[in-house]
Amino acid sequence: MLNIDLHCHSNVSDGVLPPAAVVARAAANGVHALALTDHDDVAGIAAARIAAEAVGMTLIPGVEISVSWGGKTVHIVGLRIDPAHPDLVAGLRGIRLGRVERAQRMAADLERSGIAGAYEGAFGYAANKEMLGRTHFARWLVAQGHASDMRGAFRRYLTHGNPGYVEHEWTSLENAVGWIRASGGMAVIAHPGRYPFNARELHLLLDAFRALGGEGIEVITGSHHPSEYGKFADLARAFGLKASRGADFHAPDEGIDIGRLPALPHYCQPVWQGWPELADLLSPSMA
Ligand code: AMP
Ligand code: MN
Ligand code: MN
Ligand code: MN
Repeated sequence: MLNIDLHCHSNVSDGVLPPAAVVARAAANGVHALALTDHDDVAGIAAARIAAEAVGMTLIPGVEISVSWGGKTVHIVGLRIDPAHPDLVAGLRGIRLGRVERAQRMAADLERSGIAGAYEGAFGYAANKEMLGRTHFARWLVAQGHASDMRGAFRRYLTHGNPGYVEHEWTSLENAVGWIRASGGMAVIAHPGRYPFNARELHLLLDAFRALGGEGIEVITGSHHPSEYGKFADLARAFGLKASRGADFHAPDEGIDIGRLPALPHYCQPVWQGWPELADLLSPSMA
């Protein structure tokens, strides 16, 4: 099988491995083409590209943009983006500035619950001091003994109704899709099964996304239970969206490993269909 994984994180965002180590792990796991999709930053792509060239793997430049839509947070993956495009670069920088301000409010909220020092603590877990996220807080909370594992940290803290959770306004769906498209990329809705939308709301999201020029949706992701794959494959087809596949890898001891997912259902149209950089891989002799 052709192993294409189009969603993963390095320590440029909330993963633990440096970009080159993410690429090496993907290669060791038999991945033929990998998209590095750090949250709200493209700073890892240059190093990932060099590492991919060295092992003969195809690196797809990517990003995962945090968006507010319908009062909820939605993640939009950009694939085949130009990481130097000024609109994208400026837009992502704005989101990262918002993250720093949000982190201060998160820490203040934790402090009200008797947990002091969270801002500095989380900062210590962030290799990229511009990209501070809930995962960094969660790792610190676990290390401090406030939770026994990441799942527990997110169950007791950092999530709606719990200490450390604060409302935050990310960028708009229109901006995220617009920056991705302006930079030559394809916009893909990340892990649709994770959003707290009912069916009607999800359909509204897909309609709005398509109207803005969005083209794909993740069907096979580490965030979906295998029993959900069929539902999202059907939804992709019904809404004329191409299907993507990605583990959403963050760390060797958290979640699903890079490239270790089932293939897309045969009736899906893959996002990578027709990508020139994959022409050799997609030729009939390989497929
Ligand atoms: P942020 O963008 O800073 O709000 O953080 C979102 C990130 O937190 C996601 O990309 C995941 O990496 C992580 N995350 C969210 N919920 C959970 C959870 N329940 N368990 C583990 N990690 C989670
Ligand atoms: Mn993450
Ligand atoms: Mn995500
Ligand atoms: Mn992700």
